[in-house]
Amino acid sequence: MIRVEEALERILGSMNNLEEEETPLLKAMGQVLSRDIHSSIDVPPADNSAMDGFAVQAESTQGASPSSPQVLRVIAEVAAGDPPTGPVGLGEAVRIMTGASVPPGADTVVQFEDTDEEDRRNQRESLSHIGICREVPAQLNIRRAGEDILRGSMVLERDTVLNPPQIGVLASLGMARVPAIRRPVVAIIGTGNELTPLGEALPPGQIYDSNTYALAAQVQGLGGIPRMLGIARDVEEDLRQKVHLAMEADLVLTSGGVSKGDYDMVKDVLAQEGEMNFWTVNMKPGKPLAFGLFRHGERRVPHLGLPGNPVSSMITFAVFGRPAVLKMMGKGKIPLYTMDAVLEEPVTNRDGRRYYARVCLSRQNSQVLARLSGPQGSGILTSMAQADGLAVVPEGTTHLRAGDRVQVMLLEWNKERSY
Ligand code: AMP
Ligand code: MG
Repeated sequence: MIRVEEALERILGSMNNLEEEETPLLKAMGQVLSRDIHSSIDVPPADNSAMDGFAVQAESTQGASPSSPQVLRVIAEVAAGDPPTGPVGLGEAVRIMTGASVPPGADTVVQFEDTDEEDRRNQRESLSHIGICREVPAQLNIRRAGEDILRGSMVLERDTVLNPPQIGVLASLGMARVPAIRRPVVAIIGTGNELTPLGEALPPGQIYDSNTYALAAQVQGLGGIPRMLGIARDVEEDLRQKVHLAMEADLVLTSGGVSKGDYDMVKDVLAQEGEMNFWTVNMKPGKPLAFGLFRHGERRVPHLGLPGNPVSSMITFAVFGRPAVLKMMGKGKIPLYTMDAVLEEPVTNRDGRRYYARVCLSRQNSQVLARLSGPQGSGILTSMAQADGLAVVPEGTTHLRAGDRVQVMLLEWNKERSY
């Protein structure tokens, strides 16, 4: 029996960052930048107004007050998107909208509320002039060219994960495509004579294939690209055919066929198609695990043979497959989401393997509480669906009491929830 860490280390030892590709900006959401990004422009590109108002020289407003406004001549009007107008002299004003370029000569913007425009309108007076009702300093209500990003500066470093704000920043530079580490293609194969594809009637003795869907959803949730290759029957030839279809992928997942049952042949096929390790990992659920490398010409395609029980397959993917996919995506250094919690009920771990118990979390004052999300059999997928995370009962610990502390691994799809 090997430790979880040892198995993980060996698996990750065979995974590399994938190559970079030019990715359309929005599609790169969740991917990792493969190069430093420098800006070729100032953002914003020009001084522009942060308010609707009048662009003037601050000096023109000296001594202005509501009772004795400084009356300036309005020489032009400029809206967002218009080319800049001509220069503004002393005693002059340009009516300006938010986002419009500040005209040369003007050094400040007086917002409408500090002018008599409203009164002039109400009294149907000419708008060829405007009264400024307040003395304003220079640089008021102006967004400076380059105040967000200076031309030539480093904006985002390589290895940055592209989340919504990063996508926004890259868009502000005008980048329609970005250099990013490409997404891994993960081939997924179910194994078993008992499996019926979804959408078909269920014959006696059969069950629906749930694993390949749950696994594909996990892969997709991480940002990988699942390739569903269907179900291999429990004959070597069938599995071999599916494996050949998987050879363009970056990782092959199989579920089932790795325990010591009569029809287990994943290991036999692997042994012929590549190198293979067949492990008994000190964990529950999910003890049997195969890991190997398929040979395909010069390429070596990593293969993770997950157990067939639906919960075991999801949990072994969370423990071993997730870090493998993340490493390929260039996210190998991103830590797992774990949190401390206090057990609300006792947990028994009969055989003392490391036990990943499905738990629901809740908050009580400053503590996070964990309770089992339902029956813990490795075929009970609904208690996985109820769970917020997996409480890790360490190796050798057979009993935990209510009130004991546990580490909880948050499940990928719950990581944004706060408890
Ligand atoms: P195995 O490791 O192939 O013996 O499978 C262990 C258990 O998981 C058996 O009860 C299988 O029926 C079940 N199982 C295997 N593959 C799947 C699948 N794709 N979907 C649902 N259950 C499965
Ligand atoms: Mg089977």
